[in-house]
Amino acid sequence: AMQLTGLLEKLKMEHLGYQLDALCEQAAKKDLGYREFLLDALQTEWSGRHLKGVEARLKLARFPWVKTIEQFDFGFQPSIDRKVIRELSGLGFVDRCENVILLGPPGVGKTHLAIALGVKAIETGQSVLFLSLESLVTRLTRARAENRVERQLQQFGYPKLLIIDEMGYLPMSRDEAGLFFRLLTRRYEKASTIITSNKGFVDWGEIFNDQVLATAILDRLLHHCTTLNIKGESYRLKEKRKAGMFGPSPKGDEEHPEPENLSE
Ligand code: ADP
Ligand code: MG
Repeated sequence: AMQLTGLLEKLKMEHLGYQLDALCEQAAKKDLGYREFLLDALQTEWSGRHLKGVEARLKLARFPWVKTIEQFDFGFQPSIDRKVIRELSGLGFVDRCENVILLGPPGVGKTHLAIALGVKAIETGQSVLFLSLESLVTRLTRARAENRVERQLQQFGYPKLLIIDEMGYLPMSRDEAGLFFRLLTRRYEKASTIITSNKGFVDWGEIFNDQVLATAILDRLLHHCTTLNIKGESYRLKEKRKAGMFGPSPKGDEEHPEPENLSE
């Protein structure tokens, strides 16, 4: 036994090391064959390593909170084509370095879906980074002031999937938009980006304070891209309604969405 634990240590099979006694006991009980036991043992080591990797990548991703596709109620948001989400969940878009843009008013689940796709990517071994547009721009601007913008661009260029949340809440200066454009150029056809926005494409010129830059940014982003235009009611409002804060849902809700300032 001393020899075995020593070997497992040298082979860095820590998970098998921890569970060896239990595995042997089980194998004896179930009267497993040699191959079956070996399979169980290696499976144990592999699962342990996989889980550790997922946990590490989840930490690195810096999600503000974690939700999954399974936790998303598609019945509540009929404007979302489930087939498209199923297709995206297969992560072909990450392999092909394509982008995803989630558009829609506040509360319709843009961030939820972006995070859920990020979690899927992490489970298949991809590196993911989540940033609000605001913190992305702040960090790029600070990096430039400190003469290390190249290194910061490299760091944001690295993740296989970058999620940029909440484009459109704050306008950018032309300088900031220029830095953002440099980042997208760097990632173009090399890695995937998911962007969420409460503004439609026609209003992006306003966000970037420059129509030419906005067009160049959209050109890069949309070249290989799946766009989801979510039209519906805020899920947060629905929960508040249920709690009786706004009274019953009025008829013809979809034609008369709640004013935006009520939704946060
Ligand atoms: P958005 O980013 O579009 O403003 P969020 O993704 O932050 O909206 O969603 C607001 C909250 O409501 C989150 O807690 C999210 O998990 C939840 N939510 C939104 N839509 C759904 C849905 N269809 N099913 C389940 N939860 C939802
Ligand atoms: Mg959001």
